[in-house]
Amino acid sequence: MAFDRARVQDVEVAGRTALVRVDFNVPLAAGEVTDDTRIRAALPTIQLLLDRGAAVILASHLGRPDGNPDPALSLEPVARRLAELLDRPVAFCPEATGEEAVRMADALEPGEVMLLENLRFDPGETANDPAFARALASLADLYVDDAFGAVHRAHASTEGVPGLLPSSGGLLLQEEVERLSAVADDPERPLIVVLGGAKVSDKIGLISRFLEIADEILIGGAMCFPFFRAQGIETGDSLVEEEGISLAADLIASAEAPDTRAELVLPVDIAAGESFDAGAERVELESDSVPEGMLGLDIGEKTAADYAARIGGAGTVFWNGPMGAFELPGFSLGTRIVADAVASTDGLTVVGGGDSVAALVEFGLTDSIDWVSTGGGASLELLEGIPLPGIEALDGG
Ligand code: ADP
Ligand code: MG
Repeated sequence: MAFDRARVQDVEVAGRTALVRVDFNVPLAAGEVTDDTRIRAALPTIQLLLDRGAAVILASHLGRPDGNPDPALSLEPVARRLAELLDRPVAFCPEATGEEAVRMADALEPGEVMLLENLRFDPGETANDPAFARALASLADLYVDDAFGAVHRAHASTEGVPGLLPSSGGLLLQEEVERLSAVADDPERPLIVVLGGAKVSDKIGLISRFLEIADEILIGGAMCFPFFRAQGIETGDSLVEEEGISLAADLIASAEAPDTRAELVLPVDIAAGESFDAGAERVELESDSVPEGMLGLDIGEKTAADYAARIGGAGTVFWNGPMGAFELPGFSLGTRIVADAVASTDGLTVVGGGDSVAALVEFGLTDSIDWVSTGGGASLELLEGIPLPGIEALDGG
């Protein structure tokens, strides 16, 4: 699927005020932005609008304040960081809607930027309240969505506002759609999908879809345990998502159906520890069953080597979800081996998901990946083929 909606670069913006939904949901510590990747990702669209003579109003959510102002989740530190990156002043508006927002929006000149306060300080944002959407829309002449990480949400700023203003997709949004779509639409083969993380229920739709279009699906992380339980394999004290067991059984049955394309590959060995603890010692179990008193915390060495070899021969790789509890020093090995393999394969490589991307950052491998998505849930839903409300709401198509 190519991006089939109005594109920001085709819109007449000179002398007009653009409300740009961005994803500035960044980590903060002591009032400073600790990772500005998402802010940098929005710069091309912001710069394009400024260069073409628009006034730019930026809007984002940060964290989950649940409809109440929370100073710890203010976007003010983001305004400061953005000003440094743009090398120009960024006005910070202490509210998303209201008299002050209207006054500051009216005073904004072409070439100037302002950032609104956290949208989710108002309950109208996640409720997709029409009055909140109208108040946001009244600040601007046109709407641009560049917040790929939020397009799977039907919120006021992602779905309400584009219904009220001429609307288009930003450069990041367009590129995310195109790069992710390339995985599922006529990929270079073999297409290998590597899935890990905590829960199979998060990824059930994605696995079902990839059983039809991928060549191999490699499973790791705690997600493998419901698959083991569905087959009667012991999982000891491992994290097992109980409601995932019947889902896993269904997926195993679909994988065995004669017209299913993909091979579903499960770990042949597991590394375990006695507790979910930074000091836990890594024990290679040499098999897939985990005895009582132990927790499976990583894929084993044989599995990691097998997955790496398969990834090395891939035409296309999509990876989401760590292979184990990589935050624990003894249990990052499987994730690291898989990450190294993804970084060094000749195939096209795409990675999505908060924790998988955090692992890549920790290993210093992001530059060796063809596309690192800024969207976790959004990237999974796009690949699953689910219509994304924030994209559907844009003009055109
Ligand atoms: P992503 O954010 O990349 O989509 P998830 O959020 O689905 O990934 O899963 C990441 C989490 O899964 C990590 O916090 C990691 O510790 C946890 N995890 C992975 N494997 C295991 C395991 N074997 N036991 C416990 N937790 C695990
Ligand atoms: Mg996660």
